[in-house]
Amino acid sequence: MTISISKKGTRVSLVSVFSAGLVGILFVFILLSYFTFTRLLSFESTLTNISDKSLPKLIRISQLYSQASTLLEFTELLSKSSSNASKRLAEKQLQTNLINIRQAAKEIFANEFLDTQIKTISIELDEYSALIEDRLQTLNSIELLKSKMYALNTQAISIDKQSSQAWMLGFSLASVDVSRALNEKKLQKVRFLFNQLREQLNQLSASSAIGPENVIRRQLTSQLKALLFDENRMETLKIKSLRIEGRVLGRKSFVHNLIEDYVAQLGFVTNETEQDTTQQVATYVTEMNQQTQLIRYILIAGVVFLVVIVILFQQRILKRIRIFNHMLNSETQDFEYQTLLKGNDEITDLAEAFKAFHQTIEIQKYKLEQLSMSDALTGISNRRALDIRLKHDIELSSRKKSNVAVLLMDIDCFKLYNDNYGHIAGDQCLKDISKIIDESLHRDCDFVARYGGEEFVCVLPDTDSKGAQEIAKHIIEKLKHNALPHMYSHVADYVTMSIGIAISQPNALLTAEAIIKQADTALYAAKKTGKNTYILYS
Ligand code: GH3
Ligand code: MG
Ligand code: MG
Repeated sequence: MTISISKKGTRVSLVSVFSAGLVGILFVFILLSYFTFTRLLSFESTLTNISDKSLPKLIRISQLYSQASTLLEFTELLSKSSSNASKRLAEKQLQTNLINIRQAAKEIFANEFLDTQIKTISIELDEYSALIEDRLQTLNSIELLKSKMYALNTQAISIDKQSSQAWMLGFSLASVDVSRALNEKKLQKVRFLFNQLREQLNQLSASSAIGPENVIRRQLTSQLKALLFDENRMETLKIKSLRIEGRVLGRKSFVHNLIEDYVAQLGFVTNETEQDTTQQVATYVTEMNQQTQLIRYILIAGVVFLVVIVILFQQRILKRIRIFNHMLNSETQDFEYQTLLKGNDEITDLAEAFKAFHQTIEIQKYKLEQLSMSDALTGISNRRALDIRLKHDIELSSRKKSNVAVLLMDIDCFKLYNDNYGHIAGDQCLKDISKIIDESLHRDCDFVARYGGEEFVCVLPDTDSKGAQEIAKHIIEKLKHNALPHMYSHVADYVTMSIGIAISQPNALLTAEAIIKQADTALYAAKKTGKNTYILYS
């Protein structure tokens, strides 16, 4: 018997599929790890960038901004300085501030325009400082002349204790008017006051023009005149100081404007930088969000891929192994594994191999059963098969209320046959006899077996004594017809048999043992009678 292994569909190797699946999982895992790692590194550098560069930059910018604003205060301080010491202090503070601001602005912005602006401020402040210096010197000179004028006044008072009070009053009044003129801020008024003073002093000179007693008065008057009107004296110095004051005011507002411009420009650049930084941070955040989103997608893809592999594993391996296991435990031989297992892979191979294996076992089992039921020499049924068949037929007859006839046959003088023709010839004779008996039975239900040695048994269901005797007679005649030579028999010159017949009837049912025993008794009687005959047990 051949076992056919049929295959369905294209071959899909499970080993290949799951190797590919595992490689895929490994690949996804490595990809995910690598991607997450590089993204984390990028996040780290982004955060470092923000905390190490952007934030400190913003802090420095705001410091710079407030430092620039203090320039105004120090400029004010410089303009108000009334002594060289306070002027130097204000200058020093301005200088330090300017250096710091210029350095910081260069580092933070690298903006050429801002640098030029601060340089301009520095130059203008130097000039402003020189102007303040000039103003201080002029004021100092005026103060010196004032003290000289007070000394003259003191002299005038001491002279006039002895004589004219009028001259002394005129002189003192002139000194008071000088103080008034010196306090005046308007140039026209100053010029006017000094003209008046010139007039006053001329009158004073005229009033003391004659006489030796007026020599000192004339001298004092002309000294005061010289103090007031000579080159680089009181009037000139006062006018000069007013001019300087005007220039100080103009330059002050000019420097103020420059500084305010610079601060405004700084504010603008600061604002720009702040916006840049904010935008940069926003870009970083967007980038980080995009990366996170990407990682999320890759994760989802990885999970989906894993789920697919798990489902594939469940469907293509576990489920089919369960079916296969069920198939192994199934007693149905026509198990439709192809419909249930589907596919064309290693599991199908196993199922097919198992089916072929199962079929082989079934065939071998059948063969073994046949072997255990048949006689090795003659090929007809053996004693074991007879026991089963006889029991079965008796039970059947008991249900059907029918007869069962048993014919027990023994070859006559077979010992002599063996002794004379040899054991091999004896075996051949047994085979020939079994064939003759088998051919004598015509119904399918009739059964013949070798009972042992040179004895045979026929079981004939539904057969009465008459029928059984006819079969016995037919066998004896058939032996005569075949005439297997037996020169040493005491009965005939061919091989003969004696037959004992027993019948189990519905009204007298017999067991298998009983019917064989009765047949044996009848056989014994046939032997006694002279052999080559049959006898019905009675
Ligand atoms: P009877 O007519 O009274 O039956 O005498 P018999 O010689 O046939 O009977 P007996 O019981 O004395 O001898 C039976 C012989 O059958 C003995 C043995 O040599 C022979 N025999 C039994 N089984 C086999 C066998 O399987 N092969 C062969 N060749 N001979 C067998
Ligand atoms: Mg015998
Ligand atoms: Mg015999």
